[in-house]
Amino acid sequence: VIRLFALGSGSRGNAFALDTPDGTLLLDAGLSAREWLRRAEAAGLDTTRLAGIAVTHEHGDHATGAVRLARRFGVPLAATEGTLRALGPGTAGLTTVPLRGSSVTEVGPFSVACCRLLHDAAEPAALVAATGDVRVGLAYDFGRPTTGLRWLLRDLDAVILEANYDEVLLRTSGYPPSVQHRIAGSGGHLSNRAAAELLGELLHDHLRLVVLAHLSQQCNAPEVARAAVEPHLRRLGFRGTVAVAVQDTPLPPLPLMPRPAHLQAELGLPDRA
Ligand SMILES: [Zn+2]
Ligand SMILES: [Zn+2]
Repeated sequence: VIRLFALGSGSRGNAFALDTPDGTLLLDAGLSAREWLRRAEAAGLDTTRLAGIAVTHEHGDHATGAVRLARRFGVPLAATEGTLRALGPGTAGLTTVPLRGSSVTEVGPFSVACCRLLHDAAEPAALVAATGDVRVGLAYDFGRPTTGLRWLLRDLDAVILEANYDEVLLRTSGYPPSVQHRIAGSGGHLSNRAAAELLGELLHDHLRLVVLAHLSQQCNAPEVARAAVEPHLRRLGFRGTVAVAVQDTPLPPLPLMPRPAHLQAELGLPDRA
């Protein structure tokens, strides 16, 4: 059984995990190692099968526990070179795996590809992790989808996508205009409406799970994000699951069926050696 875990998501910490028969890959570990362990246990994630940790960028809400968990479980830590450098001397002695935008990198049993995002971090990236059975994408902390991001996120079985703010709630948030502009700008965050539009573009027959993530606590709410996205996707024919990750509690594990064998050839990322 393949399962996606959403242990927490928001400006105070993002932590996901893709659990497959071949092993488990953490996608961001933006909780303290201790809190991560507590939530993994609460959610029923078997930590003895960890095969690697991939992080999108060095900000605390994405990477706080990454180095410590990689050391504790003796697994490789994968990120762009800029992110690995920004994580600092703490990574000394760890197995680090640099991710490059132009190629697919093996992280344990997973193939990981990335795409650079515009955000105020060293070398932030969106990620796609694939095994023979499933292909999962993760993108947040960006304001505008690019052609490169759309290409990275094509043909997914599951996507974790930022739905940061509702436009009306942002305008009435009481944030100063300069802050509102930064949030809504190209290096800011993705609105619910922009997330719905991008998901509409990414839809295809095998996309079965959408997880809305990194919701603002001030300018969004789970039911608001869902209302902006789910009816739009249903109208376009989406019959899968829409889940909304929240900050403080793990979601129940989200099951993902492996792709039918006749479709698995499509999983190969194009430049895989
Ligand atoms: Zn960030
Ligand atoms: Zn963030």
